[in-house]
Amino acid sequence: MDPEGILRLKVRLLTQGATLPEGYDSVRKGGAGPVGARYFILPNGKPCGIPIRRGETAEQFGSASLAPLNDEGLWLYDSEIELQEVSRPSFYDLEVDEGIPYWKIALLHGSTCLATTVYQKCRYWSHGTQCKFCTIPTSLQMENTILEKEPTQVAEVVLAGENEGLIEHILLTTGTPEGSDAGGKRLAAISREIRKVSTLPIAVQLEPPAEISVLNELNEAGVNSVGIHLETADDNIRQRVCPGKYDYASVEEYERIWRKAVEIFGRGEVSTFLLHGLGERTDETLRYIRHLAEMGVTTIVAPIRPAPGSKLPSFIPSYVGELGASIAFYKIAGKILLENNLNPNAVSAGCSKCGACTPIQEAYDWAQSVTR
Ligand code: SF4
Repeated sequence: MDPEGILRLKVRLLTQGATLPEGYDSVRKGGAGPVGARYFILPNGKPCGIPIRRGETAEQFGSASLAPLNDEGLWLYDSEIELQEVSRPSFYDLEVDEGIPYWKIALLHGSTCLATTVYQKCRYWSHGTQCKFCTIPTSLQMENTILEKEPTQVAEVVLAGENEGLIEHILLTTGTPEGSDAGGKRLAAISREIRKVSTLPIAVQLEPPAEISVLNELNEAGVNSVGIHLETADDNIRQRVCPGKYDYASVEEYERIWRKAVEIFGRGEVSTFLLHGLGERTDETLRYIRHLAEMGVTTIVAPIRPAPGSKLPSFIPSYVGELGASIAFYKIAGKILLENNLNPNAVSAGCSKCGACTPIQEAYDWAQSVTR
């Protein structure tokens, strides 16, 4: 499949999602990132977390069918495209000393990223001002994870994943605790413990820390890449959708912290999510992606995925029914990253590197193919 076809496929899968035959289920049901998806490998060898939709929702989103072809994990999408499902890692069957299964401590995201939410609560849920797309308490309520991961527990799972030959990078994310470090000190402690057993690149995600020195602490702890997520370039939407985060930090504050982080971690190693489909003006989003790129910040544009357990369970994103416009939008985003020499896959670790929830790598690859 050529880069144009791959980009179209990825945008379709991530915006429309897919339906499964009766009796099959989605996998990840709650957390700080996109949920309700199963991971498959696309014809370009890259992973895609396909949102699984059913019934009326599937009809609204225009989801095509995804059905198993054989027992070896081969599936057929929309009756024509073969996709290989990412298999369940064997290390999920192991347990730490406390009797907690490894899969409650960290999960394989995409095909090579070991990811964990190190603290499964967030101050904004306690304040009633949580981000409206967030489901961070859901997996804890369903007993699919534990509240707080100990550094030694995470390091043990990293070692197992690496020994199994599966993982190539690590992502540590966190709900925001009370305090001036935005959870950075916990992320640093876990990174230090991982560094005792592994040299794999580590990415962390946190809100802009008021205590800015925590960025140096993370760097000294062995962190390679940092995600500080604005979520949308439209400040009115940000106020409505992320009221707690909006009150906590202005766009100017994000920019101050990104610039500092770029100084410490390097160009491209600092990233932000901008969600697609909240009703934002795409020309404004593209203008901001260019501004970010000029600062050395890699934008991860990802379609919003309404999820049960969030405040937007039935939200219909503005990309629904707009496949052509979505593809055109991602093409320009890919061109901007290319012009600024910010290849998402060249980031050491984390969501840019994994790429399962965003078509930005495919957009970048498309841009490269048409400028050769
Ligand atoms: S900052 Fe927002 S998205 Fe992140 S855990 Fe808190 S409420 Fe959820």
